Amino acid sequence: MTVQITRRGLLRSAAAGAVASTMGSLGFGALEVAAAAQVRPYKLSRTTEVRNTCPYCSVACGVIMYSLGDGAKNATQSVMHIEGDPDHPVNRGTLCPKGAGLLDFVHSETRTKYPLYRKPGSDQWQRVTWDFALDRIARLMKDDRDKNFVAKNASGQTVNRWITTGFLGASATTNETAYITYKVVRSTGALVFDNQARV
Ligand code: SF4
Repeated sequence: MTVQITRRGLLRSAAAGAVASTMGSLGFGALEVAAAAQVRPYKLSRTTEVRNTCPYCSVACGVIMYSLGDGAKNATQSVMHIEGDPDHPVNRGTLCPKGAGLLDFVHSETRTKYPLYRKPGSDQWQRVTWDFALDRIARLMKDDRDKNFVAKNASGQTVNRWITTGFLGASATTNETAYITYKVVRSTGALVFDNQARV
């Protein structure tokens, strides 16, 4: 019979054997030796890794998120560990205390996970679809721009500006996303525009 031995398996066996023989020579009993021979599995070994960006501040540190669950039917994925991305040029694997606590943010009961809408005059928020939210935003932007766009100033100079609606980009946007966002927003004449990361 041929036995397949992987490098990881060989190292694990060697480590377990070394612990067991050392404990045996020190006079520990069979039960203690058997318990010590059980090498605890690495907690991230069965997780899925996804790269992301810390959403908190304009430094925009890179993070790696580890989740359990393989995406199969009836398997619920759940983020169980987050750490700094050592390959990210901004933070090289480091995180400040706020970023290091991201796991609590991910699992927070009060975290907003979908668009919410409060009708004019209502004190209740209701869950809506992204289509509804985006159509509503586009409608309000168009109406406001039609009403308040200024083509020329008091001196007759062409200004083409729209200053009654503002736009804020998130810190997790990349340079490329921020560039395109800037172009789209500025093309409407909007001047009230900023990006959290000041990209
Ligand atoms: S880890 Fe800290 S410094 Fe980095 S983006 Fe998050 S909040 Fe900012």
